[in-house]
Amino acid sequence: MINRYNTSHLVIIGAGATCASFPSGDYRGRLIPAMNGFLEKTGILDNFPELKDLVAEYPNLEDLYSVLSKEPKHQNLLERLDLDIREYMASLHCGQQINLYDKLMLSLTSRDYIATFNWDPFLAQSYFYMSYITSDLPTILFLHGNVAMGYCGKCHIVGYIWDICQNCKQQFTPVPLLYPVKEKNYEQNPYIKNSWETLKNIINDSLMITFWGYSAPKSDTAALAMMNEAFNNSASKKFKQFEIINIAEESLLKEAYKGFIYKPTRVSFVESFYQSEIANNPRRSCDCLFENTMLCTPSSVVDENEKRITIQEKDDLFSIIKKMEQIEGEDVFRDCYKQNPITSKAALVNRFGRNLKGIMN
Ligand SMILES: [Zn+2]
Repeated sequence: MINRYNTSHLVIIGAGATCASFPSGDYRGRLIPAMNGFLEKTGILDNFPELKDLVAEYPNLEDLYSVLSKEPKHQNLLERLDLDIREYMASLHCGQQINLYDKLMLSLTSRDYIATFNWDPFLAQSYFYMSYITSDLPTILFLHGNVAMGYCGKCHIVGYIWDICQNCKQQFTPVPLLYPVKEKNYEQNPYIKNSWETLKNIINDSLMITFWGYSAPKSDTAALAMMNEAFNNSASKKFKQFEIINIAEESLLKEAYKGFIYKPTRVSFVESFYQSEIANNPRRSCDCLFENTMLCTPSSVVDENEKRITIQEKDDLFSIIKKMEQIEGEDVFRDCYKQNPITSKAALVNRFGRNLKGIMN
């Protein structure tokens, strides 16, 4: 029997996490571009010949959007751009290979949260498929909107864009994408406003906070100020642990995250997901921290050879499920799959292909 404490792990995700999860693009090799060169690399610029000169001057989508949004006459152009960006992003699909987002999802529990700044649909796709295995998954917050998510303004219900609202049976409206302009308006849309309110509460309550692939850019001043304030007002800040998963140089990261680096807080820097506390203590990263710091009884879940159970690069879906069952107990972990094996198997074969056949029994 493993111990559970009422503590949560918050994972905040930026563009670098999608790049690490999909280094060669989506399953058809479609690129997930950075803000710099976004319109050119996606081919969207071909639909906007009138923007060629301006893009040459402002290749970064953030700068371009800031310039265009200053003039009301560009409203129509911005709406067309939004449609094309959505269409491109919504067309991305994770494909059959297990990816880092799948591994992240299964490594956390329903006590935990993932907050993402990304518009791409990969995290939502991962949640969609992993929820056919277990209901014990983290809650996701989309801080800048997301192409895979919809919202019913009448019933205040959020769901996948391809679903209907379970309450009023109406189609969801797309959650707006918050564009990377210097002055972001987090109050304008109720869904985004609510995501930020929730995030502030979780920053306050979480024992462990991981930033993965988030560069804390200066243009995100408003976002950083809100997160800093929530952290600094937290009564438990001296007990918290920060972890930063990022390939950038440590000195640059220390500067970017200086608002969060508070002396008694433990901060660690790692370069990959596999080195993180999430992968090293899956499904109980906070429990391990709590036991280490509060109870002084360090513990991890070990297998029959007394080796600590960790998530590794070579793990496929099957080996991860086996490991998670060892951690959680077989009765607990595959609840969704066991309740509805036919639907679950169909969904998982649809995602992972026929090679899955037989392994879910
Ligand atoms: Zn509704």
